[in-house]
Amino acid sequence: MKRCLISLLMLVAGVATAAEFDYGLRAQRIAGDVYAFIGKTEDFTPANGGNIVNTGFIVAPGGVIVIDSGPSRRYGEQMRQAIAAVSERAPVLVINTHLHPDHFLGNQAFAGVPLAALPATIEGIASQGNAFAENLFRLTGDWMKGTEVRVPQRALAAGTAEIAGRRLRLIALDGHTGADLAIYDVASGVLFAGDLAFFQRAPTTPHADVGRWLAALDQLAAITREAGFTALVPGHGPVTRDAAPLRQTRAWLTWLEGALRRSAGDGLDMNETLDRPLPSEFAALPVAANEYRRSVGHLFPAIEQEVLGAGR
Ligand SMILES: [Zn+2]
Repeated sequence: MKRCLISLLMLVAGVATAAEFDYGLRAQRIAGDVYAFIGKTEDFTPANGGNIVNTGFIVAPGGVIVIDSGPSRRYGEQMRQAIAAVSERAPVLVINTHLHPDHFLGNQAFAGVPLAALPATIEGIASQGNAFAENLFRLTGDWMKGTEVRVPQRALAAGTAEIAGRRLRLIALDGHTGADLAIYDVASGVLFAGDLAFFQRAPTTPHADVGRWLAALDQLAAITREAGFTALVPGHGPVTRDAAPLRQTRAWLTWLEGALRRSAGDGLDMNETLDRPLPSEFAALPVAANEYRRSVGHLFPAIEQEVLGAGR
């Protein structure tokens, strides 16, 4: 009887744990065969388990093409189940848009499926992936249990490619990181912008080159004007039918760079720059204050050196 009770308690505890670590992934249909999982517009927390990112998939004639795999093994597994609820076709390729951990740590759940990324993304995941995973473990806790880095093996080249019977335009850009892949699905007109586009959430900049990022946004804007575009899936934030995420990301980056330059030009130090209030247009964006603080840390030292150097 006692043993029975213990088993029952363990069973209940097990169920409770499984429910606790449920990301609640539901595929949102963007166009015919194109879907996305939309994450929260928050920081990483133990409550959200790192589900602050958008991932997606395309049901192609030859199988499912997965675009980013989320922040943990658990997310990848639940994503795979949620994909299976939509299509019985097997995943045939997982593409990682860039080296940030919320975009690739679910790779492990796709054992046996080729993993692909731009060459610099592959190098970055190989060299820094473990450090990123440890950091995410620190920020989100047990959601990450059992998560290990799986480095993509297949290098993607820019250009139009036929993948699993689907024509994809692979757009190799950079600026958010050293290599940022955007994917334009020719049949549906859906653009997966990766983290080159944030919407209704302040952009992150730990590996950013703002000038290059703005140039990349120009290129994506040109595609939305010219290519029969129907929807844009940003790396973070809601899906749109227009190019608003590109405009909002551009506005934030332009303001951020200008504000840091003015600050340096005015002779303010880092703490004084941190104390500057955000304009109301940006203060209302989710996590704006935190991202501003982090961006000052990432970007201000170089801008300060440049501005002070120019003034000598
Ligand atoms: Zn990113």
